[in-house]
Amino acid sequence: MDKKVTVIGAGNVGGAVAQRLAEKQISDVVLVDVIEGLAKGKALDLNQASAIEIHDCHVEGTSGYKETAGSDVVIVTAGLPRKPGMSRDDLLASNAKVMREAAGKAAEASPGAVFIIVANPMDAMCHVALEASGFPPERIVGMAGILDSARFAWFIAQELSVSVATVSALVLGAHGDAMVPLARHSTVAGVPVTELLSPGKIEALIERTRNGGTEVVGHLKTGGAFYAPASAAVEMAESVLKNRRKILPCAAYLTGQYGIRDLFVGVPVKLGSAGVESILEIDLAPSERQALETSAASVRGLVNALQSIEMS
Ligand code: NAD
Repeated sequence: MDKKVTVIGAGNVGGAVAQRLAEKQISDVVLVDVIEGLAKGKALDLNQASAIEIHDCHVEGTSGYKETAGSDVVIVTAGLPRKPGMSRDDLLASNAKVMREAAGKAAEASPGAVFIIVANPMDAMCHVALEASGFPPERIVGMAGILDSARFAWFIAQELSVSVATVSALVLGAHGDAMVPLARHSTVAGVPVTELLSPGKIEALIERTRNGGTEVVGHLKTGGAFYAPASAAVEMAESVLKNRRKILPCAAYLTGQYGIRDLFVGVPVKLGSAGVESILEIDLAPSERQALETSAASVRGLVNALQSIEMS
């Protein structure tokens, strides 16, 4: 393949990302994990599957960064997942250390890559990756909005008994309890859900969306969601690698858009080969704008906490 993607962290999300990239014939993949056997084992398993799935994508497993050189996209999933009772923010200190090391080494090996950040707390981890890589902000983009929107879309489809293919949902803001599901901008065959469901029903679906990840953690008990997160990360990678310029909700570095400055927050972006090519400012009602500001404040709190962790 002429495209190369490095996936750091060969755990549940990283393994599923590698599988989707290969089976959709998007790119070759280098899987990196501190547990060398995990990356090598999953790579070999995926390569063996290629004889049945019939594709020519090669997957390589390693614990080093030499093999990652010249990657077009780097997807960082390395870090601890949540356990029941934990919030994403509880992972801040441990995952910041992992992100700093991984983003620094990967940037050295692939100075032209676009980084897709997955590890939690994702919005804060984008800041760590920005600093550790030394990349311009448009080449760091965080995955959550597509996942949260997909969860909202699925719950809407279930409620209305319609194909999820006819639903288009939009969730902005931070990836956490303060995410901002936008019912007015979520549609079924072009009709806003606010015209199809009662305010009470919509509120219940929004609440379930906010807890979409926690609900999965509650069932699994030993880790978090990974199939839908992998689908979301691969949709972003594909838009970059094929320069599709899809408009996707992703965490991007804001420089005044939506009244927010110097912070990664989930907003609609145009994603192409250069990374975040532009940020769309959609019309928000005063309550929606207020919710986005509250969400941004939660990210700001984590970024400040990061600074005090680093100083201690
Ligand atoms: P996992 O435990 O299955 O996999 C994480 C992997 O990272 C492990 O294999 C571990 O060995 C590896 N790792 C740890 N330190 C490393 C390092 N320094 N270098 C390379 N690899 C290293 O966890 P998972 O379920 O795959 O989740 C990974 C991360 O993604 C978690 O932080 C999780 O919370 C996050 N996540 C984010 C979203 C999102 O929407 N942004 C969705 C799902 C999961």
